[in-house]
Amino acid sequence: MKLTCTPARLRYTLDMISLYDILKAANGQLFGEPSSHLFAKFCFDVRDVTPSSLFVAMRNQRGDSHADIPEAIQRGVKGIVCHGPPEVDTSGVTVLMVNDSVDALMAWSRYVLAKYQVRTIAVGGTSGKSVTLAALHKLLATRYKVHCGDLDDEGLLSLPVSLAALEPHHQLVLLKFDVTQPGDMHQLVQATQPDVAIIDHLDVAHTLSFSDHDQYVDEQRTLARALPADGLLVLNNDDEAVRTLASVSLATVQTIGIIQQDSDLLASNVTLAPHRTVFDVRWGDERYQMCTVQLLGEHVLYGALAALLVGIHFAVPLSESLKLLAQLEALPGRMRPMRSKTGALLIDDTYRAHTASALAALDWLEQVRGGFRRVICILGEMERGSQRQQQGYRAVGRRVAQVADAFLTLGADAAQAARSAIDHDMPEHAIRMFYNPAEISAILERLDLGTDDIVLLKGGNRSLRTVVRDLLSTPNDARLLLRQTPTIPLARIQLRPTWLELDSDALAQNVRTIKALLGRDKTLMTVVKADGYGHGALMVARVALVNGADYLAVANLGEALQLREVGIQAPILVLSYLPPPMARQAMQQHLSVAVFDLEQARAYERIARDVEGKLVCHVKIDTGMGRLGIPAANAIQTFRHLLALKNLHIEGIYTHFSSADDNAPYTEQQVDSFKSIVRALRAASIHFQYVHAANSAGSLLVDDPMFNMARVGLMTYGLRPSRLREMPESIKPVMTWKTTVLQVRQFPPNSPIGYGNSYITQGQETIAILPVGYADGLRRAPHTWREVLIHGVRAPLVGRVSMEKCAINVSHIPNVAVGDEVVLLGQQGEDSISAEEIATWLGTINYEVVTTILPRQMR
Ligand SMILES: *Cc1c(COP(=O)(O)O)cnc(C)c1O
Repeated sequence: MKLTCTPARLRYTLDMISLYDILKAANGQLFGEPSSHLFAKFCFDVRDVTPSSLFVAMRNQRGDSHADIPEAIQRGVKGIVCHGPPEVDTSGVTVLMVNDSVDALMAWSRYVLAKYQVRTIAVGGTSGKSVTLAALHKLLATRYKVHCGDLDDEGLLSLPVSLAALEPHHQLVLLKFDVTQPGDMHQLVQATQPDVAIIDHLDVAHTLSFSDHDQYVDEQRTLARALPADGLLVLNNDDEAVRTLASVSLATVQTIGIIQQDSDLLASNVTLAPHRTVFDVRWGDERYQMCTVQLLGEHVLYGALAALLVGIHFAVPLSESLKLLAQLEALPGRMRPMRSKTGALLIDDTYRAHTASALAALDWLEQVRGGFRRVICILGEMERGSQRQQQGYRAVGRRVAQVADAFLTLGADAAQAARSAIDHDMPEHAIRMFYNPAEISAILERLDLGTDDIVLLKGGNRSLRTVVRDLLSTPNDARLLLRQTPTIPLARIQLRPTWLELDSDALAQNVRTIKALLGRDKTLMTVVKADGYGHGALMVARVALVNGADYLAVANLGEALQLREVGIQAPILVLSYLPPPMARQAMQQHLSVAVFDLEQARAYERIARDVEGKLVCHVKIDTGMGRLGIPAANAIQTFRHLLALKNLHIEGIYTHFSSADDNAPYTEQQVDSFKSIVRALRAASIHFQYVHAANSAGSLLVDDPMFNMARVGLMTYGLRPSRLREMPESIKPVMTWKTTVLQVRQFPPNSPIGYGNSYITQGQETIAILPVGYADGLRRAPHTWREVLIHGVRAPLVGRVSMEKCAINVSHIPNVAVGDEVVLLGQQGEDSISAEEIATWLGTINYEVVTTILPRQMR
């Protein structure tokens, strides 16, 4: 089997990147004598370096790849593009310095396109761009010398990467215009000045960098507007947002459609089958019946239809194009049919995923499922969009419940879809959530897949691709899979100085471990107050709910509303005081509230009666914490009054331990006091749905059948709650706090460092400055964060912590460079700094360490 559009990097190419072109185009500057003048490709990752490549160093999110220059030279690279003079011996290597590597490569792209006078055809829009590109290539290569961009590369840099293989005889270049943030399209059209463009889907604002859908559509508008009057713009008439682009373009606009009958090129009678799609075509007076493509799904058909119109524009007759299209095979990872070892039909749709493309794949599955005994759907992660992401997973889960017999999910996010499928009446035994691809492969092995089974694999995570690989009939098929590693660093390169990394898989594992510890019969209430102990309440709530939590707890109404706003429907208990006027909102939002005082309860009762509602309450008993709660001694009497309040629904009763972390006998007393109250109430026929006492430490210490719920916070986040008991081993910390080195300097002895000259260097010292300070939550006084990790080694903080900066002594660590990653909390290499250790430095507890890392940190 042959791919129609070979990735550029696999093909023999002339050495096409000329040093002088970059110099001219990008206003670059040579550092020393150039040795090589021509290069075969750009390379961004030092591990991919070959002698003929030009290594492009840049600043990116993980640091600065300038630090990799020595390694690139060691690996034999002959050319380097960088921002400043390298600090290593570069003899024998061509070094080109530019202001900004990305801008330089874009300028070079523009330069070579003009130099060879090639015309550009741009494929924009959200999804299906690669298939469109492949179809265009198939049709246009019959008449022209066509250069086609790499189908799997993504982002702005895919432009220079594909142009590296451009040859002087090429007449047309076909490119995906992949935008990941506002302004990308402007750069792309500036560099390429396309004549022809196709836009067929505008599904979602598909990255976090766009504020909303409109901003994303705006990017596409930039493309439509850039076309010249003698150009062509092909639009999908069935997509409302796409249709609006017609009015902004000077070029001739032609439309494709399956639904809209007034489309210039109309496909009708579309029949979806497991290996092909059949349809009729109408174009002016021309009519063709029973045309076939080997592409699956209506959503994929649009790309093929668009290519037909471009073909006509370039004088390839429709009748001929249709024959060519029939030969086009599905691309790796895009609804590509394959055979499993045991003969089942696999649909590999693991290139990229978002809600719209997942729903489209399921629509297709619904159409073809009739011919199969079992329909199995495997869902991985979808691209992170906006907050609507959760709704996306829910929508996909609902659809899966309608079309599949079995549903397997991979990863913490995808598990939300599994939960939604359960809510939509898919039997629970048909659904499994996984976090490890090997487990999925093992389960599928046991399912004994046969020729009458169909498996759809949808999701963008690489690990899902290993499941496809494991399923295939011969290792040889594996070359038809997507490659595992991108050549281009994703998105636009940005310096992100300080950030938190949250391990949602560890979180999922922790919640499942806690649930197992409590046992099946106990309800797990996950405590997500204080923005999920600083981890981000939304993420924590979502992951917890699909991994065994049934109830959430927050401190106040505001926190609860944030969860409701994003569609979280699980019951939520508000632990702190809810002012009575807000009881109305609590009822509307189905929140439950803590009651610890009779007067408070009466105030709630009045509000609830006014609106003829019922407020759900958990009554808190103080058994020795000495904070909120009804004193144990008055409990029985108070309950007589509480029960008379008919508009309160008392769902639970609870108490809180004051020292479950270090005082077992005292906790025992609290348990006894609480139990005697519950027993007395039971004797008076007063029962509660939930009886609860334990927090994290308590749930390790106390296991009493009277309690059927635990309120667990700390341990959820992988933090140690107790000196008395070990946590289960599978509990792992979720949070890592990182920053990068901003500057490295050598100081002679006796140099003061920082405000107040509180630190004076002793000998010759190397000091690194970090862009993090007390305004980020890195405590200044009375005690500081003592150490950080860099290159896997501990380095001490020196001098005072400033608002935005601090200094570390790295004299004992060789080769520390600007951009190096620094770990403030978490693991690096063999060593790790735990919240517990930091707590001893600061004189506090691990709770305070994580909750005082301020919200301005990117999570
Ligand atoms: C915060 C809180 C918890 C959770 O405690 P952890 O020690 O973090 O598990 C439980 N109950 C109440 C009332 C709380 O305020």
